Amino acid sequence: MTTMIPTPVHDRLYIGGQWVQATGDETIDVVNPYTEEVIARIPAGTAADVDRAVAAARAAFGGWAATPVGLARLIQVGLPTMSFATMRGLLDELVFEEEVGNSLVVREPIGVVAAIAPWNYPLHQIAAKVAPALAAGCTVVVKPSEVTPLCAFALAEIFDEVGFPPGVMNLVTGYGQTVGAAMTGHAGVDFVTFTGSEGVGRLTGSVTGGNLVPAALELGGKSACVVLDDADMQLAITACVTRCMLNSGQTCIALTRLLVPRHRLPEAEAIAAAVAEAHTLGDPFDHATLVGPLVSAQQRDRVRDWIRRGSQEGARLVTGGADAPAGLDRGYFVAPTVFSDVSSDMTIAQEEIFGPVLSIIAYDDEEDAIRIANDSRFGLSGAVWSGDEGHALRVARRIRTGQVDVNGGAFNPCAPFGGVGCSGHGRELGAHGLEEFFYLKSIQL
Ligand code: NAD
Repeated sequence: MTTMIPTPVHDRLYIGGQWVQATGDETIDVVNPYTEEVIARIPAGTAADVDRAVAAARAAFGGWAATPVGLARLIQVGLPTMSFATMRGLLDELVFEEEVGNSLVVREPIGVVAAIAPWNYPLHQIAAKVAPALAAGCTVVVKPSEVTPLCAFALAEIFDEVGFPPGVMNLVTGYGQTVGAAMTGHAGVDFVTFTGSEGVGRLTGSVTGGNLVPAALELGGKSACVVLDDADMQLAITACVTRCMLNSGQTCIALTRLLVPRHRLPEAEAIAAAVAEAHTLGDPFDHATLVGPLVSAQQRDRVRDWIRRGSQEGARLVTGGADAPAGLDRGYFVAPTVFSDVSSDMTIAQEEIFGPVLSIIAYDDEEDAIRIANDSRFGLSGAVWSGDEGHALRVARRIRTGQVDVNGGAFNPCAPFGGVGCSGHGRELGAHGLEEFFYLKSIQL
C-alpha cells in the first residue's frame, strides 16, 4: 500500500530575520525531474517583497559591516560548505588597509548585495555568493532559481537557527522577470552578483550598467578540450567526455567541444562513443546512474532541438540522438550524444546546449587547434592534454578563457572562477571572489 505524502509548501519568505507572508498569493510548483511529480510549492514573490528585503538588508548593513570578522566565525561553525569554510581563513589573510605613498588605502564592504542564482548547482551557486558577501561585511538579498529553490529555504532556516542578526541574509523566491528584475534595478542595491544564462546576463548588465551599479556576471560557456597529438588519447578523451556529461551536461564549464588531430579522428570517435555509451541513465539516487534527467521538460526539449539542428547542419551522429532513450518511460532524459564532423561555424559548436552533447572537431595542426578553441564568443573554461606538461601549458596560455585545466588538473575551489567575453566578468571563489565585495577607498594623509 502506498502512502500519499502531502506536498510540502513553503509559504513564507525570509526577510529581516523573520519568516514573513509573501505579498502576493501566487505560488510556483517545484517538480522532481525524475518522477515528474510536484514535490513542493514556493511563493512567487513580487517587487514589493524585494522592496521589503532590500530595506531589511539596508537597515542591517551598518551594524553588520562594523563586525564582519568576529561574526564570520559563526559562518564557519554553522554552515559547513566549502565556500563558507574557506572565508574565515581568507579574511585573516586579506590586507584590509595598506599605505601607498601618503594614502591609506582601505577596503570597505560594498553594501547591499543582490544575489541571483541559477538551477544547475543550486546550493553551491548561492554559497559562492552569500559566503564572501557576508564575510566582507555586506548584507544580502538572495533569489534562487524558481526551478530549484528548496536548498535556499534550508539555508535560510540555518541562518535563522544560528541566530544571524535580522536583515543580514534575506530570501525572496519567485520568477526572474518579477523578483530578479526588481532586484537588479533596485535603487537600494549596491552590487549585483548574477549567475545564469548569457541572455539574462546581458539584460542584467544593461540594467546595472544604466544605473551605474557594479555587477559580477557569471554566464555560460562553450569550452574546448584540446587533445594534442602527443597526448594519451584514451585518458584525454575519457576525461573530456566525463566532464561533458557531468550533471547531465548542465555544467557551465562542461567541455563540450573536443578538438582532436584530423588523422586521429576515427580513434577519437570510437573512444568518445564507448565512454558516452557507458554513461548509464536512470534514477539519480541510484549509485549506478551516471546521467540523470535534465532539470525540466523545457530544458529536455531545448536540448533535443539542438541535437536535431546539429544533424540538419551536417554533423554526423556517432552515438545518442534526439529520440527518447529506450527503457525510460518517465523523467526528462536525453541520451548522451556525440557528434563528429563538426565544424566551428555550426550552431552546435557555438551555442551552449546545456545537455549531454559533445561535438568533436578535427584540427589540422596546433595553430589550427588554438584558433578553433578561441573561435567562440564565450571564454569560461577549457582543457589541454599532452604527453609533455610544458607543451600543454604553452598551449593553455594561448587559450582565452577564465580557466584552463592541463592534463586533467582538478577543479580548485580556492582559485578565481569566472569568464571573459560572453561568459561574463567578475570572479567568484577564493580570495579573488572575496575582493568583489569590497570597494577601495584612498584616504590621503
Ligand atoms: P537563467 O539566466 O535562466 O536564470 C538565472 C537566474 O536569473 C534565475 O534565478 C532566474 O530566475 C533569474 N532571472 C531570469 N530572468 C531574469 C531577469 N529578467 N532579471 C533578473 N533575473 C532573472 O539561467 P538558468 O537557466 O537558471 O541557468 C543556466 C545558465 O547558467 C547556463 O547558461 C549556465 O552556463 C549558467 N551558469 C553559469 C555559471 C558560471 O559560473 N559562469 C555557473 C552555473 C550556471
